[in-house]
Amino acid sequence: MNTLLLSPTDENIRQAAEILKNGGLVAMPTETVYGLAADALNGEAVKKIFEAKGRPSDNPLIVHISGIEQMRPLVKDIPLKAEILAEKFWPGPLTIILPKSDVIPDEVCAGLDTVAIRFPSHITARKLISLSGPLAAPSANLSGSPSPTTFQHVICDMDGRIDAILDGGDSEVGVESTVITLASDIPCILRPGGITAEQLREAIGEVTIADAVTKPLAEGEKAASPGMKYKHYAPAAEVLLIDAEGETFSSYVNSHAENGDAVLCYKEDLGRLKLPCMCIGRSDDYSTQAHRLFSALREMDNIGVKRVYAHCPKKEGVGLAVYNRIIRAAAFKVINPLAGEVEL
Ligand code: AMP
Ligand code: MG
Repeated sequence: MNTLLLSPTDENIRQAAEILKNGGLVAMPTETVYGLAADALNGEAVKKIFEAKGRPSDNPLIVHISGIEQMRPLVKDIPLKAEILAEKFWPGPLTIILPKSDVIPDEVCAGLDTVAIRFPSHITARKLISLSGPLAAPSANLSGSPSPTTFQHVICDMDGRIDAILDGGDSEVGVESTVITLASDIPCILRPGGITAEQLREAIGEVTIADAVTKPLAEGEKAASPGMKYKHYAPAAEVLLIDAEGETFSSYVNSHAENGDAVLCYKEDLGRLKLPCMCIGRSDDYSTQAHRLFSALREMDNIGVKRVYAHCPKKEGVGLAVYNRIIRAAAFKVINPLAGEVEL
């Protein structure tokens, strides 16, 4: 298949919307990561997303809208807490899960009776959705690999597999949206992202965080968010997460690293490490870490790194989203130099 590479002119956005209305696939920029979109109300079109990505069919998709009023027909009911969250955080990196209406095809929700909805802020996504209608869109990467945060990343994974890719520059946030379910008794964060637990609690009161955000599922445990059960976001290189501060981190890495290894680290670590380093920001600058994380993981593969020692992020604010992605990229292998390999 010939994939059209489109700059985000109004004419090209109109062309992309036509492709979508005819059941095709278009990768679109959003402020979180690039999304791989299909008409959310066309089950046959949505099926093609799973084929293009190699995504397991039990992993549901987020439906993207371009205005709060577009949500009404997609869900059974809009509770007050959803209205408050939408008012406060949309457009932006927050996905809200609610019981679905009958217009949502099973392919979107992987058979669940709920639907995940987000109103992105990226101007190109908003223009596209206002012409095409609601779009189902997971991240536009091959399943399992780091999410795409640049036009080039999408070309790398999707050229020849989809109809078109719209260029929207680099994704500002860099990690996927925060996913909160309002379909449970107490609102629960299923995936951390650019909107923090603290911000959500300030808006609607009690909010819990699913165990699967920071731990692998126990054997036989059912996933509240099916996407959380897989090894994910992983480069070809092996990733080892090192849970240690300052000099403990650098001396562990310096004494264990071999030729072909590299480090994913913070600004404060530079100068203490004796192997190639990729810095994702200061240790307390979570937004910069989120913005750079997936690009850095992809860059490790581009330069042929075999093993990545990653400095464990702090689990607070947007840092929780960075932690959630890195433990999956590391397939939950965490090493505490003072305690050995740690079971999460
Ligand atoms: P992606 O679009 O690839 O970033 O993945 C979307 C995430 O939202 C995955 O982790 C899904 O499991 C989760 N998700 C989407 N719809 C639902 C739903 N109805 N219930 C629970 N989780 C959902
Ligand atoms: Mg994804």
